[in-house]
Amino acid sequence: MDKEEKKVQVVAPEKLTGIKLTQPTTYAAGITGVKVAMDHAIKEMGAVRAFQTLMKMNQKNGFDCPGCAWPDPDDKRSVLGEYCENGAKALAEEATLKKVGIDFFAQHSIQEISTWSDYEIGKSGRLTHPMILKEGKNHYEKIEWQDAFELIGKELNKLDSPNEAIFYTSGRSSNEAAFLYALFIRAFGTNNMPDCSNMCHESSGVALSQTLGIGKGSVTLDDLHKADVVMVIGQNPGTNHPRMLSALQNCKNNGGKIITINPLAEAGLKKFKNPQKVVDYFTGGTTLTDVFLQVKINQDVALLKSIMMKLNQMDESDGDIWDHDFIKNKTANYQELIQDLKSHDLQELIRQSGVDENEINDAVNILAPAKKIIICWAMGLTQHKNGVENIKECVNLLLLKGSVGIDGGGTCPVRGHSNVQGDRTVGIVHHPNKESSKNIERVFGFKPAMENGLDTVGSIQAMYEGKAKIFVALGGNFVPAASDTYYTAQALQNCDLTVSISTKLNRTHLIRGKVSLILPTLGRSEKDHFEGKERFVTVENSMGKVHASQGKLKPASKHLMSEPDIVANIAEATLGKKHVVPWMAMAKDYGLIREKIGEIISGFKGYNKNAKDGFYLPNNAREGDFSKLPGGKAQFTVCKLPNHQLKENEFILMTIRSHDQFNTTIYGLHDRYRGIQNERRVIFMNPKDMDKLSLKKLDLVDLISEYDGIERKANKFHIIPYEIPEGNLASYFPETNVLVPINHFADGSRTPISKSVVVRVAGH
Ligand code: SF4
Repeated sequence: MDKEEKKVQVVAPEKLTGIKLTQPTTYAAGITGVKVAMDHAIKEMGAVRAFQTLMKMNQKNGFDCPGCAWPDPDDKRSVLGEYCENGAKALAEEATLKKVGIDFFAQHSIQEISTWSDYEIGKSGRLTHPMILKEGKNHYEKIEWQDAFELIGKELNKLDSPNEAIFYTSGRSSNEAAFLYALFIRAFGTNNMPDCSNMCHESSGVALSQTLGIGKGSVTLDDLHKADVVMVIGQNPGTNHPRMLSALQNCKNNGGKIITINPLAEAGLKKFKNPQKVVDYFTGGTTLTDVFLQVKINQDVALLKSIMMKLNQMDESDGDIWDHDFIKNKTANYQELIQDLKSHDLQELIRQSGVDENEINDAVNILAPAKKIIICWAMGLTQHKNGVENIKECVNLLLLKGSVGIDGGGTCPVRGHSNVQGDRTVGIVHHPNKESSKNIERVFGFKPAMENGLDTVGSIQAMYEGKAKIFVALGGNFVPAASDTYYTAQALQNCDLTVSISTKLNRTHLIRGKVSLILPTLGRSEKDHFEGKERFVTVENSMGKVHASQGKLKPASKHLMSEPDIVANIAEATLGKKHVVPWMAMAKDYGLIREKIGEIISGFKGYNKNAKDGFYLPNNAREGDFSKLPGGKAQFTVCKLPNHQLKENEFILMTIRSHDQFNTTIYGLHDRYRGIQNERRVIFMNPKDMDKLSLKKLDLVDLISEYDGIERKANKFHIIPYEIPEGNLASYFPETNVLVPINHFADGSRTPISKSVVVRVAGH
């Protein structure tokens, strides 16, 4: 063993698993959802542990779901449980009884593990010990915690510049861990802080900051219940934020309407059978969507412009469609927007959107009288070259209707990972904030690094080119999550040291630098003890509410450390015991971390006192205050139409998640809502396109993208006839991430173009 270093597989094997097709589902959740959730939880955790733990998830005095960032109700929580099918699956993954310990690594080389699918790797279980993969070796071996910290400190101090280190953060980390991590990184001397939001909602942050003065959404859960109209654009809440369906159901029950805009008709937006409402079992549930506009991939701007043009015509003839008082008093650039709308040919816009004009008229008729409008969106809008403008166009519509800063109206970017928003708020940003930098200097007495750092794309390029040599990841599964998988893998393999602070084994652990470390950490659901006292952490949900999360389970191993403990130890090993920041004292007492956050970051005064009950952070857009923007006004913007010059044999592909998946975590091989059982290597294609290519159901094909003369291939996918616009394709992430070129991303936010990749289809 370990005579020579062999190659690892950087992508999941192109192995078929035995597909079965069923009818796509016409409703979400219901009794099947409950059953599937319980099956997953009981299989991984055992029945008693599963039921007891699920009852604590998303409850006051309980722990926050490790899945998405959807908020919990402010007041009463359901006694039946505050979680969805996918929340139960997320918990089952984390609280599994399976273990990946020293013996596991002695038995399996990284090469062998790399031939397993991502699903199989994920199902191996919880990491139990700190492990090291030495240079030239093929097996991880045990390392003592202190030795691991000293190694990291030594390697970091060997660098010619702190900017040769990259510090990644995933959205799982608590506010306390993220704050301490950012503080250490900036004390070390860099702002190279790529994080997972660079790959998802960065376009939202950029667009909202420029137009409304805050890079977050403006609504609360309660607003969704009160809205006249909720527009759900480029989002699949049935799979990715399932409890959002309860909020939409409340909206409908209160007389609200829902307009859905998406290239795929997702089950969750058709009908919702609320598992907590007995009546839904008998009545068949609530039809959520009133109007479904099946837009072509990346033609949302064309569609929104055509909607606004029609509404503007109505406003000009009858008035009272736009909120002219709001426009006059609170906004800038209205005339420019209207002029732009009038410069377009309405019929051409409609043709480009791919939507039937009668259906657009239905949406227009719902929107015309509405005063309280919320627009919700996710990656379907952000991961395009014009991702920032997609969101700005949504803001345009809301501003025209005066629907920002009012009850029941506003912006709602729905975040994917449970604390991705909180991590950014407390300091995980590659462009340092001047005010909090000054506060760091005042509170701690050192000057933090001020030079702009690298985002995710920039970090990958720097590692690939040998300009960065150490990669530290606080959570996440970086290689499959990022774009251009082979390039990203090579970037990590070029490093001297790669470090993963993780709960579970994943593919990134196999793609190592010369030396690689795995530092196992506590999961959200686990008790965090220090000297006999239980500690809690805090997180921020998608609607800007900060609240406590306290694990309840015995940790998977007595050798685990909490994330703040790990970060503090790395900091001390790197910066020395005499550094001005009391690293170990803060790791011991998270209350001290929160106290410092309160002194440095605005909105956190009284943090310790209010953490248990939770509190909303200040939100100027929610208050209708745009004073920080040019002229003190919210900004209308003129957005260009996307321009895809496709050749005859080319398609636009969007990467999507299956129903049995959360980001890179694969819970299972089914996608029940889309009628796929036991297979992930599928491409959803319009039957007319299949005819054109003489393809039959389940034929095997390869996908090829070509950017800047470089061909990228993803092989062996079953063709599935599906209700998707002609010329468009959909296939699962991360299998198709190999097709997304590293150097093609959204203008202004550098979010990869994962939802509009130009590809060709070839027979396999
Ligand atoms: S909606 Fe999101 S946060 Fe809520 S239980 Fe489901 S996965 Fe967890």
